[in-house]
Formats: sequence, structure tokens, C-alpha cells
Amino acid sequence: MVRDKGCGEIKESDIGLNLSLCGWVFRRRDHGGLIFIDLRDRSGIFQVVFSPDVSGNTHKLAHSLRSEYVISVSGEIRKRPAGTENPNIPTGMAEMYVNKLEVMNESSPLPFTIEDAADASEMLRLKHRYLDLRRPEMQKNLIIRHKVTKVIRDYLDEKEFLEIETPMLTKSTPEGARDYLVPSRLNPGHFYALPQSPQLFKQILMISGFEKYFQIVKCFRDEDLRADRQPEFTQVDLEISFADRKDVMENIEGMMKRLFKYVLDVELEMPFGRLSFHESTERFGNDKPDLRFGLELKDMADLSEKGSFKVFLEASRSGGRVKAINGKGLAALSRKEIDLLTEEAVSFGAKGLAWIKVKNGFESPLAKFFPEEILRQMAQRLEAEEGDLMLFVADKEKVVHDVLGRMRLELGRRLNLIKPGYKFVWITDFPLLEWNEEEGRFEAMHHPFTSPLDEDIEKMLKGDINNKELLSALRAKAYDIVLNGYEIGGGSIRIHRRDLQRKMFEVLRISEEEAGVKFGFLLDALEYGAPPHGGIALGLDRLVMIMVGATSIRDVIAFPKTQKAADIMSGSPSTVEAKQLRELYIKINLPEI
Ligand code: ASP
Repeated sequence: MVRDKGCGEIKESDIGLNLSLCGWVFRRRDHGGLIFIDLRDRSGIFQVVFSPDVSGNTHKLAHSLRSEYVISVSGEIRKRPAGTENPNIPTGMAEMYVNKLEVMNESSPLPFTIEDAADASEMLRLKHRYLDLRRPEMQKNLIIRHKVTKVIRDYLDEKEFLEIETPMLTKSTPEGARDYLVPSRLNPGHFYALPQSPQLFKQILMISGFEKYFQIVKCFRDEDLRADRQPEFTQVDLEISFADRKDVMENIEGMMKRLFKYVLDVELEMPFGRLSFHESTERFGNDKPDLRFGLELKDMADLSEKGSFKVFLEASRSGGRVKAINGKGLAALSRKEIDLLTEEAVSFGAKGLAWIKVKNGFESPLAKFFPEEILRQMAQRLEAEEGDLMLFVADKEKVVHDVLGRMRLELGRRLNLIKPGYKFVWITDFPLLEWNEEEGRFEAMHHPFTSPLDEDIEKMLKGDINNKELLSALRAKAYDIVLNGYEIGGGSIRIHRRDLQRKMFEVLRISEEEAGVKFGFLLDALEYGAPPHGGIALGLDRLVMIMVGATSIRDVIAFPKTQKAADIMSGSPSTVEAKQLRELYIKINLPEI
């Protein structure tokens, strides 16, 4: 046996034993006569000591050890002398006195030390990802990721879900993003698309009678990347037959309860809260509210009507909104600091930010436009007390919600209002359709296979496809699951009737022909006894990111891509040989720059 146990597995009961350990030289301290090394492997860190009194040769050889050399050591585990214990590591009560050292491999000088890698530039870390991944923190993240997928698999297996793989070389699916394309050598001029999600295949599996499907699956979307987006990402994808929204939600709630208990030893509050899309945007400005703190948006239209401030009156009269939030304790801000807040609001899309300080009465350039009693009522509605700052935005509804929603988050952070913990909430009753101004047509808010609410189905089937008002009011059997302000998943009950699906395409201005070309196989399958079904997909990367407390999904993915969708370690994407292109009948035709 090369080693007896892991460095992090040494216990009090090992004291007195002769053991062998292997690992990497993490830190090295030369204290005159004695050389101390923190030896690191996946399980943790253990201090080993080289003393000339124990073995002269070994001690001599230890002088040559450098960072990240791979070594094997044997020797006696001893209790550390009083006062030299390290309470910061679980093995800090003991150390090994080495009598045998083998250098298994050397290491070139490092581009950054493993210990300080977190401070190295991300580009450097990604280029040398093999070193970055040696960081205990990264190891912890990937170990937790493993546990998360294991718990999910076990849970779904117990609930009788079947894990079924769907193809990676597929026909493009309509999730709304750009596809990654793969040329087909055997069918020149034809392309596969890498799946944006297994949506159509999982619906087909329901029609085929598998009843409960899941897959932990890579999906691909060729979008411009943001901090929490990757071109390839992992979904926990599932689908259930004979299910309504409650069934899908209960399965996910049970899964999360198990997950947080097993992996983090956290007891989640059950069941999760539910908010309609409408209520969520009204109260928090968006459909992914962080419920760890209050600071809700309040409607001020009726009160602002009772004053003579033009901006407010005009916003209301032109169909817009006047809303406000309470900047708790911010009445002490100077004019300059308020200007900075205003600049921030403008960067979020507002034309301006109106403010009223609750300070020895009311202090504001606006105060003169309102009777004192109305100012008092405003403060009451916002629960603003002496020392608070009321912040108003008046504009089109979307701008008001966007700006105040973002200001709310910003202030929540700045004022330390965000309580630790995990706040899940379901967002339900989304609109079925969304008007695309540019294209002058409706788009599906979730996707075109999402069912309207039961009470809206007949309205839709009978409705005129030009009746914008009727169509805008239709609501979907769609739901998102939100955790601490992040959308971590979404799904819906699907359309399983051919006539309704056909109507949906009509409403979306997708012709029979286009529908046939794009997803004819699903439409065909719907002709042959499709059961009612629905499902959801969770973003695994984001979920794990929140669970480990990371701020970027790149920290929970072993080999992530950069913002330019590149893997700088392996050098992808790259050019390919002319022969490969010839075989695919592809000619590169870059524009002149
Ligand atoms: N396919 C959807 C998505 O990737 C999820 C679902 O509706 O189940 O967002």
C-alpha cells in the first residue's frame, strides 16, 4: 500500500502509530534544525516534520523539497507539543516525524502559489486550471457538486424517475437562444444543433409512456456571456406524466429539502412560498425576488395625484406608474451622496430619482408640491420613520419596476439588510405571451409548448389571433423557482392537445409549414395519445454556486469558459486543418477588417 490514509483523516487515535502519507508540498518552513511541511491531499492538510535526530538522510533530502513536489512520507504520528497545536485545521493536534521520504515527482516553479491563487488574475487561474483546482476551496466546491448530483439522483430514483439520455446531436430546439451548430460530414450542407435543452425529447418520452424522466444534462446556448452564464451548462431536467403544477413543485421541494439537509445540514422551511408573477413584480420590481429582506416597492400614484409635482402627474396620466421605496436610515445622506444615488438610478434606466427625507418633518425639493398631510401618508405607506429617505421613480411601468427593483437590491446590500439563509419562492401565473415590439408579434414567455391556465384554454381556442388585449391577458401554467434572488429553475405544464398546440403556433405567427419543419416530430407524436404532462429544469451550476457561497458559476465548474466562450487552458475554440474543412465542404469566409 502506498499510503495508509488521507492527510486530513488523521485522528487523535493515530497518535503513536507509524503511518505512510502521500501528497503535495503545500507550505514549507525551515526552522534551523527542523523542517516543517504542510502536506496536502484531497482530504486535507497534515504537518510533517523532518528532524536530523530521526533520520539524517531524510532531513537532508527534505532541503530539496519545493512547492507542489509530490512526496510520500512515513513516520511516527506524535501529539504536537503544548502551545504548537493548530486549531484552524482538524488535524492540528498532531504531526508526523518522518523517517522515510520519497520524492514521487518534482514541480516547476509555479505561476502563482496554490495558497494565494484566489488573488491571481482569473485568466492566469484558468490557463493553469490544473493548479487552480488544487486549491482546497475549489476541491470543496467540486466535492459538494458531486454530493448534490448524487443526492438528486438518489432522490429521483426513490421517486421512481428514470434517468434516460437524450441526443447531443439534435435538431435545433426553440428555447430562444442561438444554437451551437455541428456540421454533418455524411450529409454535406446539413447541420446538427447541440441541444439548448432536451425539451422536445422529454415530452416525446412522456408520449412514449415512461411517465417520470430525469437527466442531469449538458445544454448549450450561444449567447453573450454574463457573470452567471456559460455556453455549456448543466440542467437537472425532469418531466412527469399525469401531473399538475402541484406535483412538479412538490417533487422539487422534497428534493431541495433533502439536498440542503444532506449537503449543508440546513433545515429548509416547507412548503416554499408562492407569489404570482404580478405580485412579485409589484412588490419587488421583478420575477426573481430576494426575500431575505423587505424594502418593498409601494404604489404612490393615488397620493401623488393629490400634489402638483408635474413629473408624477404626467407619469400617471400617460399610463405610467409612480412608486417608491424606503431608504432606511438614509436621511443623513448629503446632497452629493443623493446625487450619486440618482446617477445610479439613471444608469439603471430612470430619467431621475425623486427623494424626500423624513427629518424634522419633511425635507425635499418636492415638499412644496404636496400638503404636509399627504407627505405624512406617503411616509406611513412606506413605513418611513424619522431618519429615513423615501425614493421615488415615476415612469413607464417597466422602467419603474426595473429601476426600483435594482435600487432595492443595491440598498439591501449596502444597508446590510440581507439576512443569512436560504429563501425559496415559487413564481407562478406568468403571462403566457409577451409582445415583441420590434417584430410586431407575440412570443411565448416560457416556450411554445407551455399550457395556458385551464380557465384560459377556451378563451384562447375561441379567441381571434389579432385580439392583442385578450392574448396579453392569458396566463400560463408556468412556474419558476427562485432562491435568494436567483432564478434557479423554471418549467411548465405542457400543451398535450394537438388543436391547442396548433392554435399556439398561429398566435405566435409560426406557419404550419415552419412548425412542421422545426418540430414536426413532436406534432406528429401529439396525434397518438399524448398524456397530460409537465416538468421543470433546474440550473445545476447556479444552485451549487449558491450552496457553496461562490459568486461565479465558474467556481463550481471544473473547466469553465471565459466571457469570450474560450477555454484558454486547452485553447478552444481553434482553427482546424484544411482537410477537416474539405471533408465537411466548409469554406471559411471571414469579413475583411
Ligand atoms: N426546457 C425548459 C428550459 O430549459 C425547462 C422546462 O420547461 O422544463 O428552460
